[in-house]
Amino acid sequence: MRDICADFLIGKAERSTTMARTGKNLTRPDKSARGRSARAEWNYHPDLPIYNNPLFSWPVRWKDAAVYYRDGWLTLSESSLFIVMAVATYIWLSPSPEHAATPEWTWIGGIWLRNLVVTILVAGGLHYYFYHRRAQNTELKYVAPFLSRGERFLFGNQLYDNMFYTLVSGVLVWSGYEAFLFWAMGSGYVNLITFGDAPIWTIAALPLISIWISLHFYFVHRLLHLKVFYEKFHSLHHRNVNVGPFSGISMHPVEHLLYFSSPLIHLIVPTHPMHVIFHFYMLSLSAIFGHTGFDALLVRNVRRLAIGHFHHQLHHRYFECNYGSVDMPWDKWFGSFHDGTPEARARFREKLRSLG
Ligand SMILES: [Zn+2]
Ligand SMILES: [Zn+2]
Repeated sequence: MRDICADFLIGKAERSTTMARTGKNLTRPDKSARGRSARAEWNYHPDLPIYNNPLFSWPVRWKDAAVYYRDGWLTLSESSLFIVMAVATYIWLSPSPEHAATPEWTWIGGIWLRNLVVTILVAGGLHYYFYHRRAQNTELKYVAPFLSRGERFLFGNQLYDNMFYTLVSGVLVWSGYEAFLFWAMGSGYVNLITFGDAPIWTIAALPLISIWISLHFYFVHRLLHLKVFYEKFHSLHHRNVNVGPFSGISMHPVEHLLYFSSPLIHLIVPTHPMHVIFHFYMLSLSAIFGHTGFDALLVRNVRRLAIGHFHHQLHHRYFECNYGSVDMPWDKWFGSFHDGTPEARARFREKLRSLG
């Protein structure tokens, strides 16, 4: 896969050496030479360079950080959507801690069934809208081609391959961890909080979960890029050079075990079962959103919901970069940050050449 990447980079290098800022204006595309060059590289890309959470800049850019969290958490966004979904899931579709104290197949199976249905509805809904109906055609789509077929995929079809690993292994491992945490919380092995006891912590824990995911994902992901783990496990996810909603958690079962271990933090940090559900939604549904391949959902040509993760899209194209997320600048600190600019692209092209 690394060879594929190097060939891709070197081949494209002659055709496109620069990327331009195109802005978000959908009706007046950048017609300059730089804009044409950028469009040769991507069908669409967000403003470049992409940036990390300003809270971790030094000196801290407090105003920018406030805007980052306002836009990411207090407006219609994937985070605010998953909070609402987590609360609803806890109230109507989860066992109470008392009930979960006794392991029974009814409630364990119930968690698996609801996660399966939620995944089918979310990933299936996004796939139907963007890929089957092509309701947005290629508007705001990072790369123009849609999903592909080929022998490298199970059943010779990228969609069926991705659905298999997502629904069979992904949902099972996610549900197994979640049932274990519900049981641990119900059995009194974990200190539980309620909103009434700790209202500030209940709210603050939500963005902190996102930061923890960024840290956990970065290090697990770097481990998976070690040659031995990459070839055995992680290459399965990277067969998706182009991505779709079901690619999000289409992984080898061993990668699922590592990836979905992030919520085990709830065993030592006092939280509420709602936080656990939210944590799993941020791992599963956010990955599904982020692999949709579109930057945002348009309604009457207006952006209504940011869904794409261009930071991770760069990882699928250039491989040896952007292992984490923008919530924590681990990639910047460890020299693996690709901000989407031509300068970063040239740097990573050299890096791949030196790796052979
Ligand atoms: Zn991915
Ligand atoms: Zn990777």
